[in-house]
Amino acid sequence: MEKDLRRCVGCRQIRPKSDFWRIVRLYPSGAVQLDTGQGRAAYLCPQASCLKAARHKNRLGRALKATIPDGLYAQLDERLTGLGKSLSELGDDFS
Ligand SMILES: [Zn+2]
Repeated sequence: MEKDLRRCVGCRQIRPKSDFWRIVRLYPSGAVQLDTGQGRAAYLCPQASCLKAARHKNRLGRALKATIPDGLYAQLDERLTGLGKSLSELGDDFS
């Protein structure tokens, strides 16, 4: 059986589709959402470095040919937090 391979927009690694988060620009509304829906899709490894690369260089936006709302990145940040450490806790409190 052939595997369904996809490429991460952050690190460019190719992996099975099931290893990735799926971000989809819905057709025909153009709304961007996670996981499900018909339209143009992009894939991202569930890890902070890939999320950061996809966001800071707008690779995700370019892959989808759409503007990615901040809320969507916030959702992905939340998923990362659920998996491990919170990005917001990485700031230092020393003065
Ligand atoms: Zn990646």
